[in-house]
Amino acid sequence: MNLNLRQLLLYQEYDMKLQLCLREEEEHKKLLRSLEEMDSAEKDALEKKRTDCGQKEGELRSLEGTIGAMENRLKNLEGKKKRITTEAQADAIGGEMAELIRGKALVEERYLECLEALEADGVELEEACRCREKHRAERAGRRMESELKRKEILRKVEDLRKKLDQIHGQVGKPWMAAYGSLRGPFVKLPYVVQLDGVICSGCHMHLAANLPKWGENFDDAVRRCEFCNRILYVDDGDSAGEIA
Ligand SMILES: [Zn+2]
Repeated sequence: MNLNLRQLLLYQEYDMKLQLCLREEEEHKKLLRSLEEMDSAEKDALEKKRTDCGQKEGELRSLEGTIGAMENRLKNLEGKKKRITTEAQADAIGGEMAELIRGKALVEERYLECLEALEADGVELEEACRCREKHRAERAGRRMESELKRKEILRKVEDLRKKLDQIHGQVGKPWMAAYGSLRGPFVKLPYVVQLDGVICSGCHMHLAANLPKWGENFDDAVRRCEFCNRILYVDDGDSAGEIA
């Protein structure tokens, strides 16, 4: 086999490993990002629950104030009631007191509702805090694991890039250029594929037009599949691609 092709096949093997590593690394990055997002969403939800509790506590304090003020007014009216002299005055105070008592009952009802809601919130908040601690610990474990794996992959990437650089210089320019031209979204690796009889093993099409022309001189130049444009090689039992 043409030496250029042999080196190019080796280049391709490292390249495929590199692409795999890069995809894996991307997955780890995504996982780390999503862990971060989950953490911050949970933190926001907890913060919101705390704010809700704070608001309810504020409302309770204010209702307590209202109830206290109403009680004072009632006491005042009772004091006044003792000092009244006319029936008309007694009626007026009686009416005012009845209204005040009704109003106070409504405020007290609201107070109890609010107190119940706050208690329920408190239980929920406590549960949410417990869950958060548990989730944080779990996420920390996953993050550490993922970061370690990512570091390992990055080391591999560096190593593979060095190897690729080395081989790059050893492959003839036309072959390397043909390989580079295939990079992109349209053709998937491998770019260098075996010509299996008359079939391109990259796209599995039947090559008819160029085969007779190439004949014995197949190895002389870069030969491409007329359908998928991949670079073709013929396995003459001398194929390369072994990576130590
Ligand atoms: Zn093809």
